[in-house]
Amino acid sequence: MSITDQALSYIRGISAYVPGKPITELAREMGLAVDSIVKLASNENPLGMSPKARAAVEKAIGGLERYPDQFELIAKLAERLGVSPNQIVIGNGSNDVLDLAARVFLAPGRSSVFAQHAFAVYPLATLSTGAECIVVPAKHYGHDLAAMQAAIRSDTRLVWIANPNNPTGNFLPYPEIRAFLESVPADVAVVLDEAYNEYLPPAERADTVAWIKDFPNLIVTRTFSKIYGLAGLRIGFAAASAEVADLMNRVRQPFNVNNLALAAAGAALDDHLFVAESYALNRRGMELIVAGLKRLGLEHIPSHGNFVTFAVADGAAVNRKLLQQGVIVRPIGGYGLPNHLRVTIGLDTENARFLAALEQSL
Ligand SMILES: *Cc1c(COP(=O)(O)O)cnc(C)c1O
Repeated sequence: MSITDQALSYIRGISAYVPGKPITELAREMGLAVDSIVKLASNENPLGMSPKARAAVEKAIGGLERYPDQFELIAKLAERLGVSPNQIVIGNGSNDVLDLAARVFLAPGRSSVFAQHAFAVYPLATLSTGAECIVVPAKHYGHDLAAMQAAIRSDTRLVWIANPNNPTGNFLPYPEIRAFLESVPADVAVVLDEAYNEYLPPAERADTVAWIKDFPNLIVTRTFSKIYGLAGLRIGFAAASAEVADLMNRVRQPFNVNNLALAAAGAALDDHLFVAESYALNRRGMELIVAGLKRLGLEHIPSHGNFVTFAVADGAAVNRKLLQQGVIVRPIGGYGLPNHLRVTIGLDTENARFLAALEQSL
């Protein structure tokens, strides 16, 4: 027997996450200059990071010999969200808090429910606990909440909902989510992943964190990786009932988030100008790219995030031709959409470069 035979069978069954292709990798493969490459593959903020966050990082470099203290950021988030500090769980990216939720509620013999084409971390987090995935067929590429409710079994302990969803960009109006929460058994946790919340127009948003007092099984997650531009620092958080947050904090690594990320996140929360600029750039870029896709006769899935997914005749071939022109988008065959590609909304120049390269690739 080999050592790998001794690994847990449910770990051996996992396929690892495939990230967007790094710029440096494409540069090596194609012999292209790094600064000639446009990466629109990972829903990163094309404006970079908030200047306030950058200044906070520079200042925090002075204290790196000390272990991190989450106190200040937790206090600030609690105040912003109108909850008490013991309802906040900070993660090394929101991916980390998704994993914590899985570790608290899932195990072999239990199951989680999520939609077809939902975010790739839900199966990963589920399978790594030995629990089973119940994948509910999508409706118009989005979550079919009625079918998801019907799919809940007596062994189901967690439901994952991304709103907006990645990679499809679908959005569920909040009254529908609230009705779903009413219909779910009170002893089944519901993770509402709002990584793209800040890209929603104000009229579409809802104060979902305020719903936690009505639904102690609700866990709302958000991230600093997207509109706040801190994907490389790895920081996100969950808001939950005090009881659930306490359980998640018990399995959290004590120092899971570093000093620089904590400092940057606190400052980013105050950089309203940067968030407003990022939002406006995304709106404008989304319009431009959607108009361009229509001009090229390509169907797209209407998106509420900072990316848009569109259909082509042959996803792999178009992706290859884009890469040859130094444009990285995200193939999403792994999400069951082999003839769709997902493009992140970039700077105006990047969006134009993408559309020109796409036209050459069809
Ligand atoms: C990007 C993304 C996240 C955030 O990941 P981080 O670990 O916070 O960088 C979470 N959920 C969805 C649906 C995402 O697309």
